[in-house]
Amino acid sequence: MAIDGSKIVHAVMEGSRIRESKGIIPLFGVYLSIISVSYYNRLSFDLEKLMGPQRSAEAQQLLVHAAQECGYATFQGIRNSWEWAEIVAPMIETTEDQIKGFTAVAVAFGWGDLEVVDIIPRERLVIRVTDSYEARGYHAEYGTAPAGKCYMLRGVTGAFMDLLYGGDYPDGCLSFSAEETHCRAKGDPYCEFIATKSPDHTEPSAAGPGR
Ligand SMILES: [Zn+2]
Repeated sequence: MAIDGSKIVHAVMEGSRIRESKGIIPLFGVYLSIISVSYYNRLSFDLEKLMGPQRSAEAQQLLVHAAQECGYATFQGIRNSWEWAEIVAPMIETTEDQIKGFTAVAVAFGWGDLEVVDIIPRERLVIRVTDSYEARGYHAEYGTAPAGKCYMLRGVTGAFMDLLYGGDYPDGCLSFSAEETHCRAKGDPYCEFIATKSPDHTEPSAAGPGR
């Protein structure tokens, strides 16, 4: 059975109606909250701006790594949840189907219309997004960007590969790293993220769960 993304999106939408008293949404084994896109974008882009042009690469790496660590922990929780076991796991036929399950959950979370363009097991993942809120938010606020601005989606693309091929949790984070080769913030028709093994990565002794 192929991964039915709409079934996963509907399950998340249905489940997200349940809120704790502080507005926290306990769903898919993790705690979620609704956050304003413009607020999150402001935090990211202001950090980059405040660190200045000399430290721009450092700011970008901080933001990408924060997203990757968050994505790694969040999707580890998600794939170990009862909702995943009940709704997603029956649709999974191959290890790589897990990533399609991850992207469907990310779509439901409002992170964009993530589409898996290519997966080479253990080596490469290509994800395309046409409605990244980071790209849209950057362009609206600052105009055309000189480089990709979707740090969250970039980190998350790396995290998906970390979870599949980075070895045992929690030691696999940052085994892979992603570049954003196209970005709507700089005028491209879509944002595209390519994750490959991190340059300083050593081969793990065991494959990740889902093998
Ligand atoms: Zn982008």
